[in-house]
Amino acid sequence: MKCRGPISTAEYVRMALTHPQYGYYTSAHTFDEFDGDEDDKTNSKIGKHGDFTTAPEISQVFGECIFLFFLSLWQQQPTSCDLIEMGPGKGTLMYDLLYTAIHNFPNFVHAIDRIYLVEVSPELKQIQRKTLEKLNSADHPFELVFHSEQEEHTSSASPTQKKRIHIIWHTSLDSIPISSPSSTRYIVGQEVLDTLPVHTFQKTEEGWREILVDVDTASNPVYSSITEKQRRPRLRFVLSKDVTESTRNLILENPLMDEDAFQIGDVVEVSSEGCSLINYIQKLIDRGGAAVLIDYGYMQDEVVDSTTLRAFRKHTQVHPLTLPGQVDLTADVNFGLLKRAAASSSCDTVQTLGPVTQQHFLMSMGIVERVVALIENDKTSEEQANDLANALERLIGEEKGMMGKTYKVMALVKTGDFVQNIPGF
Ligand code: SAH
Repeated sequence: MKCRGPISTAEYVRMALTHPQYGYYTSAHTFDEFDGDEDDKTNSKIGKHGDFTTAPEISQVFGECIFLFFLSLWQQQPTSCDLIEMGPGKGTLMYDLLYTAIHNFPNFVHAIDRIYLVEVSPELKQIQRKTLEKLNSADHPFELVFHSEQEEHTSSASPTQKKRIHIIWHTSLDSIPISSPSSTRYIVGQEVLDTLPVHTFQKTEEGWREILVDVDTASNPVYSSITEKQRRPRLRFVLSKDVTESTRNLILENPLMDEDAFQIGDVVEVSSEGCSLINYIQKLIDRGGAAVLIDYGYMQDEVVDSTTLRAFRKHTQVHPLTLPGQVDLTADVNFGLLKRAAASSSCDTVQTLGPVTQQHFLMSMGIVERVVALIENDKTSEEQANDLANALERLIGEEKGMMGKTYKVMALVKTGDFVQNIPGF
């Protein structure tokens, strides 16, 4: 075996989440410790029985608000369009968007040409397909047709005379072609930016150093107190001895960073993949459309004193270097940096909005009024009304554990002659 030195936190995150054999999202999941019922096994990672719960899983009203955002832009320029979702998880958000459109805005459904789902997990792709297949019903004049990335599809008319909407999976956003028959794209990324690899740096007395992940050595005092059985390679964070190549590229010579703004001891996280993703989104919507990105993170260059990398297993936070590949690994999103990446691109007619808090965005999109209407509906039981009120509190509440202030929403919108009113910000 070849020996190498410590690896960057970005390489660690990339391997822990997306290694083809061992990655958290990409490897086949085992259900050994699962204690739910048989049907719920698909919920292994996301949801009540999984490692974390996300906004679309809390309530359909979240998806309705995202849909209304896209709808209000589309109504200003009602052309044919593609929908793109990055990291669709269990497919719930796309289901809610399409359900709302099919039942209330059939004109919008007629305008949809393709739906691209960007997903690395083979297991989640299957779950997404199952979720979306439920929308295919004899009652309405639309039909979802499923394709893999490699598969060429023709726009042949359906034997049932229904309008066909093509659903195509891709494993990365940048394999979706920039040019498309539909010039307009509506893109959503909900809790996906936080899964992207981040490099971590610290400003020290000696200058900028990179925080790296290293194998713990047997000389570590902790080894004297553990039994032979517990003895296995452990990982720890170390500081690079010198200026690494990434420190040079992502801090010292990075036009998006102002290294003088930091004090000794400050830690900075940089996701170059996040910046490239933003620039690709700008290209995808340069002929029309918008992107909404929702995630936890900091608005500007908030200074942190240690890495925000953390890991979750069954809703409990664990050390980010324990059980790589078996725990959800995540980092706060540096929205300030993403905004600067957007501003530095040549797509100057794509406007960046926000980030604003999730509370601000959802309330501007009318979430409170929508929940009140649902609660007051005669068909809503008392239990359902309670669930709705609790879901609203979780989505927009400010207290610890609520999403209202910790989650942020940023949008990129192609502006111009047609699109002038942008809601939500
Ligand atoms: N949006 C969903 C799921 C969030 S979990 C929700 O809110 O419920 C993160 C999602 O991103 C999962 O679907 C995961 O498989 C996917 N993902 C993680 N890393 C990715 C990558 N590098 N490229 C594409 N998808 C990725």
